[in-house]
Amino acid sequence: MGAGDYYDTLGVSRSADEKEIIKAYRNLARKYHPDVCKEPGAEEKFKAINEAYSVLSDQQKRAQYDNMGHETFTNASKGSYTGGGGTGGEGFSSDFSGFGDIFDFFGGGQRRAGPQPGADLLMRMQITLEDAVACTNRDIELMHSEQCPTCNGSGSETKKMNTCPRCGGSGQMKQATQSVFGQFVRMSTCNACGGRGKIPEKQCHECRGSGHKRVKRKVNVHIPPGIDSGMRLRMEGYGEAGEYGAPNGDLFIEVYVQTHARFQRNGDNLETTIEISPVQAVLGTTIEIETIAHRHIDLSVPAGIQYNMALKISGEGVKRRGKPGDLLVRVKIVTPKGINGEEKELYQKIAELENKRSEKGGFFSGFMGKKTGKK
Ligand SMILES: [Zn+2]
Ligand SMILES: [Zn+2]
Repeated sequence: MGAGDYYDTLGVSRSADEKEIIKAYRNLARKYHPDVCKEPGAEEKFKAINEAYSVLSDQQKRAQYDNMGHETFTNASKGSYTGGGGTGGEGFSSDFSGFGDIFDFFGGGQRRAGPQPGADLLMRMQITLEDAVACTNRDIELMHSEQCPTCNGSGSETKKMNTCPRCGGSGQMKQATQSVFGQFVRMSTCNACGGRGKIPEKQCHECRGSGHKRVKRKVNVHIPPGIDSGMRLRMEGYGEAGEYGAPNGDLFIEVYVQTHARFQRNGDNLETTIEISPVQAVLGTTIEIETIAHRHIDLSVPAGIQYNMALKISGEGVKRRGKPGDLLVRVKIVTPKGINGEEKELYQKIAELENKRSEKGGFFSGFMGKKTGKK
């Protein structure tokens, strides 16, 4: 779909609240509804409005859209099929251009006129933090319906169709309905032909006239960098097959990012912990850090570092939209146990020096001086 930014499509600001979005949507939907508007391009416009609304009216989708930006959000899910476990040997028909309306028009539970688009599917996927930070592709197995290859989705063995006697081929029947905007003469789907306007000359034996077939597919999913738990990827057209002539539903993949043994995520930053000895803390040291991307970096720990301080390695965090977060290395100072005689002597020496220093009002006098100063 050639729709631009969803906020522009609805003509609202990026900070618009739920009410503004609903209001803008209703005004536009009323103006461009195909039952009402006969302007050329109205249907496209109506679809674009619906697409924008379906995202912006859903808090989770909206947050994801805001995070990823229009292009990434709409492209995030452009995967590809690889023929696996499926039925027919012929390549998968890749006409996934349609956008399936996710919601009913005005939520009234009315069946929209004409052939029905396919249902959306939701799958859940676990990925590692490594995969979430970088950018990765993943194959998943999907069960969904596709056009029946025997009848090309027509439901007719001969692929020939006869005009529906009930609706005379329009696929629709007139029906007056009351709505919030007054009376609409709505078109409803013909129940004899299901909106096709045609009925199969000879019912397809393969799909029993449904035009659909259930198949297992291997789908390659592109997982954009920076994805977080609860976010959903949309694979347009990968849901259930629509009725003959209507678009397929979409496949939504909800991502769950597993916890990592060494790294915690905090927004776009990652955090890890290192342990050093008191001597290293006093004198300073260099520690080799392995980043989440398995890069090895020599981190210099400055002399006098305190317990729980964090050192920053820029750009080694989550890479979302080109602006990487940082890696924070939190320093824990671990007291050695079981030191040998020589080490003990040296520590005792340091203790004596510290005592002397505290008598002179040195560094430790503030909290140790009173106890140790008066022997
Ligand atoms: Zn009919
Ligand atoms: Zn068939």
